[in-house]
Amino acid sequence: MAGVVTPAAGPGGPYTVVIVGTGFSGLGMAIGLKKSGMHDFVILEKAAEVGGTWRENTYPGCACDIMSLLYSFSFEPKSDWSRMFPKQAELLEYIKHVVDKYDLAQHIRFETEVTGAEYDDATDTWGVTVAGEGAEPGEVVRGRALAAGMGPLHRPSVPDLKGLSSFRGTTFHSAEWDHDYDLTGKRVAVIGTGASAIQFVPQIAKKVGSLTLFQRTPPWIMPKPDRRVTAVERTLFRRVPGVQRGYRNGIYLLQESFVLGFKNPGLLKAASGIAQWHLRRQIPDPDLRRKLTPDYTMGCKRTLVSSDYYPALTRPNVELTTAGIAEIRENSIVARDGTEYEVDAIIFGTGFHVTDAFADAHIVGRRGLRIQDAWRDGIKAHLGVSVAGFPNLFLLLGPNSGLGHNSMIFMIEAQVRYVLRCLEMMTSGGGSRIAVRDSVQDRFNAWVQAKSEGAVWVKGGCDSWYLDENGANRAAWPASTVNYWLRTRRLSPGDFEVGAAR
Ligand code: NAP
Repeated sequence: MAGVVTPAAGPGGPYTVVIVGTGFSGLGMAIGLKKSGMHDFVILEKAAEVGGTWRENTYPGCACDIMSLLYSFSFEPKSDWSRMFPKQAELLEYIKHVVDKYDLAQHIRFETEVTGAEYDDATDTWGVTVAGEGAEPGEVVRGRALAAGMGPLHRPSVPDLKGLSSFRGTTFHSAEWDHDYDLTGKRVAVIGTGASAIQFVPQIAKKVGSLTLFQRTPPWIMPKPDRRVTAVERTLFRRVPGVQRGYRNGIYLLQESFVLGFKNPGLLKAASGIAQWHLRRQIPDPDLRRKLTPDYTMGCKRTLVSSDYYPALTRPNVELTTAGIAEIRENSIVARDGTEYEVDAIIFGTGFHVTDAFADAHIVGRRGLRIQDAWRDGIKAHLGVSVAGFPNLFLLLGPNSGLGHNSMIFMIEAQVRYVLRCLEMMTSGGGSRIAVRDSVQDRFNAWVQAKSEGAVWVKGGCDSWYLDENGANRAAWPASTVNYWLRTRRLSPGDFEVGAAR
């Protein structure tokens, strides 16, 4: 990229860009920089390995519910996916391949966890404090820009249940799976029936002595058309130009068609009919079926895909309870209907902190502005990336850039391009900082909220992690991904303030 100010970087910087995280976002950003001719960046990674979500989540059955051919970088197609829906191990392998192919390892500092970030008005740089085995005590890594690729779902949420601390057995969260704990023959409680739980419940149900599943809200579940990718398909992908791209585009369009239903839930009638048929076919017991039937509009929460979850619930060692949890005792969980379930272990499939993920984060922008103060009324960022008052900070998959219907990698690629455009705008204007204007961010957020008003997340009759405590949509992108792509494609110079260090 011509004209980008590239400070000469030592081990602690200053770098042109400090990237946080080696998941799809962080690596996508790194590749974007490299392709633009910028090599002066560092990637800070808290773990000893790359992978983000696909490194952290190792629970049994962990897989992606977006098809393999779409859930990959558009510029790095993989023709030999083993299954239509990729499992965690194969995704991690793909991510490692990307790191090798784009020679990114040299840029990564492992076991270097970001503990805070402060913007320095005098130099227009970010000072990123780091800790861990890979960091010096009290070390600060400095960069002109900071690209945060920690992902929106990285802080496991464990509910504050009465008596939980008195429990004598084993507890762990789906994203922190305890592989040393042998579940064979154990009495296990699972709390939560979201995207993660419906993947691991069928796997552990075969092993455990008994499984009590605490469901608060039944998810909508579509059949999962998973299968092995055939040798013929793989050969076609490899040898016949356009076939793999055609598959990918077809899957993208199919997924994208769901967005029409978010605004017009009536259009999801056919899809909810399929989900109801799927439930009827797999759950013959009318009582169990009633408990599993959602009472809110499809799409209000993320619609799930699984063909082995319902059958797992019909096993004699599995019980679904909808009574709610009254309290936890030393060796048991007491449901609100008074039933006491003796258990050896409790597994939380209870999701992540999303709208409150930054509640404790130490991020300080221009003139000492704390992120908590900037976000007093709720988390917001222009196009999910730029935050007014925080120059040169770019959130990857930030507020309102989540999807319930399509591949997040599409969003990441659009955001990476947007960040590159911002850096270009900054340097071509001779500046050392670029910040979105308050009014632009406000206008964007007003549009998001207005667009969400009539949409299924708000009107669908459910609570979901898309909404904050006031019912405002803080997580989901409220329009088509094409709309997002178009909005991030070109920047309006008037939307940003470019300046130089005083
Ligand atoms: P989740 O979808 O947020 O589900 C959490 C579950 O825990 C829900 O059933 C929730 O019930 C329940 N829960 C939360 N607090 C509870 C409490 N105090 N008592 C009882 N139940 C409680 O979390 P997740 O399954 O980990 O998935 C999170 C997100 O990760 C997904 O939405 C998806 O975006 C992503 N994910 C994606 C994939 C993929 O294949 N692409 C796979 C796994 C996860 P309520 O519904 O009543 O709140």
